[in-house]
Amino acid sequence: MPVGSDRNVEGAAQPPPLGAGAAADRIAATGAAAPILSVNNIEVVYDHVILVLKGVSLTVPKGKIVALLGANGAGKSTTLKAISNLLSAERGEVTKGSIIFDGEEVHARSPNELVRRGCIQVMEGRHCFAHLSVEENLLTGAFTRGGAGAAIRRDLDLVYSYFPRLKERRSATAGYISGGEQQMCAIGRALMSRPKMILLDEPSMGLAPQLVEEIFKIVGDLNAKEGVSFLLAEQNTRMALKRATAMCWKAAAWCSTAMPRPWARTRT
Ligand code: ATP
Repeated sequence: MPVGSDRNVEGAAQPPPLGAGAAADRIAATGAAAPILSVNNIEVVYDHVILVLKGVSLTVPKGKIVALLGANGAGKSTTLKAISNLLSAERGEVTKGSIIFDGEEVHARSPNELVRRGCIQVMEGRHCFAHLSVEENLLTGAFTRGGAGAAIRRDLDLVYSYFPRLKERRSATAGYISGGEQQMCAIGRALMSRPKMILLDEPSMGLAPQLVEEIFKIVGDLNAKEGVSFLLAEQNTRMALKRATAMCWKAAAWCSTAMPRPWARTRT
């Protein structure tokens, strides 16, 4: 089906378009204190035997940014993949606990269903489609949603308004743009699905400090202006805490390799 054509996604509630209302309106309508995500005491096992997470709990209030901090191998990516249901691709599974996104237990939901419901992950390492142009990459982000081509075009313009660099590079092949531009492309592509929440895995990885600053500023703007909630897994504690706005509680975690515990740091 051509990108940008009309599509009806069966059973999927269509979220409001990005930029259609101020973040404050959206948050006020839903109640600022209500969590968009709660992870309750989950356990994750890889290959049926490797226990990687145990007793991890955290909450992301609607319209907030929560930073999930931890060292290499602490289990941040695993926590995000557990939420977005991507673990099965790596022979991992959530064996205990529950994950509630937007009022609904999501354990049985496929990753694409979750995207339709507004929860999308931007994986560590950017993962753009290397042979597609920047704009084609962005358009793939609209694949799971319905809506007319005109609406998709509007959202594309909105993405370009947040990432003017992507507009300049719209025809460039994604495999040949810089790491920072690829990270922007990956976040922009996620935005094209009209998310309520983005699980953002180490956006600072391998980028120059100036670019990291630029990307985190855009994340802050998306949160403030579009009301997108973020769960932000980072090793760059200073930068993550600069942008984290949500108040949540510590995420107790345990790794089989006795790595440091990741924790959710929050701030009002
Ligand atoms: P990083 O910052 O390096 O990505 P992280 O905090 O995101 O680290 P994870 O990638 O979640 O950590 O890894 C947590 C633990 O789970 C590590 O000990 C890792 O070796 C292990 N692990 C991750 N993926 C798998 C897998 N597919 N099979 C087995 N073990 C895994």
